Amino acid sequence: MKKFVVLMVMTLLFLGTGGMLMAADGPHVEKVNDNLYVIQGLGGNITVLITEEGVLLIDAGNTRKDGETVLKEIAQLTDQPLKVILLTHYHSDHSYGLSAMPADVPVIATKMTAENLKNIEEVNRKHVIEVGYPKYFKEMEEYIAQNEGVNDEEVQKAKAQVEAAKKRLEAYKSVTLRYPDETFDKEKTIRLGGYTVRFFFPGPAHTNGNAMVRIEEMNILITGDNLFSGMFPYIDIRSGGDAMNLLKIVKEESEKDYAAVIPGHGPVVRGTEGLRDFARYLEYARQEVANAKEKGMTEEEAIEKITLEKYSGLAAPQYREFTIRAFYRAL
Ligand SMILES: [Zn+2]
Repeated sequence: MKKFVVLMVMTLLFLGTGGMLMAADGPHVEKVNDNLYVIQGLGGNITVLITEEGVLLIDAGNTRKDGETVLKEIAQLTDQPLKVILLTHYHSDHSYGLSAMPADVPVIATKMTAENLKNIEEVNRKHVIEVGYPKYFKEMEEYIAQNEGVNDEEVQKAKAQVEAAKKRLEAYKSVTLRYPDETFDKEKTIRLGGYTVRFFFPGPAHTNGNAMVRIEEMNILITGDNLFSGMFPYIDIRSGGDAMNLLKIVKEESEKDYAAVIPGHGPVVRGTEGLRDFARYLEYARQEVANAKEKGMTEEEAIEKITLEKYSGLAAPQYREFTIRAFYRAL
């Protein structure tokens, strides 16, 4: 039984960076206003801006198939063609759907996001396909052989896990990494159909390249994974994520006057309440970690002792430790 649990944890780990956030509940479309929609349930949130000069898309889903679904959903919403795609950051649950996007539609991202795709995702991907999955299948095979006739219920569960993993591997392999056609350092302004779309890099936060998007005329902020609403966040310190700067950015943005904020994960929040909630969460976690460090706790002790009890209602409690680890490293 213990081994089985270990194997399941491993499946989560070797799926890589963004893969952990894979959502499998299928697409549902939320209307933010007449020209702005959010597609949820295909990995990270996907934003669709419809204008008289075409469609601007922000992020593209977790697999090639997700990308195809996004194209179908856009066709349901409008006859306008897809004109430009903004990629908030490199994580697979936002970027892999790009492999289904037409080659003549330009993809824009920060320079760091382009570098991360090359230096982190491409390397990680090779490892997942060539080492991670084969190792997992071999271990599961051994586990099944050992338990056949001993614990049939566990064997059935393990077999179902293997089948699901095979499907995930196929979806994973169907993706060809798409690199941005255009990159920027700090800010890029796109004008389309009367809208001014500011794509800007506020400094390292969720990753070292996560950009955010402001649609000026609508007063809307799209955060990428610099905001998780209603759930524990993932702060990717391996990719240069910075908890202290994340807190600063979220606080600053929460003091502005947005009509709605579209997070990277979780529901769209009207006004800035979602940002303010998240800033309070981060501030609370920062304080807890600072106290633990003052008491001389190691990183692992801090993760064990800091329960963030006040936020036990948030979804994805398995991500709690990411916040603690990120503040521990940043303080
Ligand atoms: Zn992410």
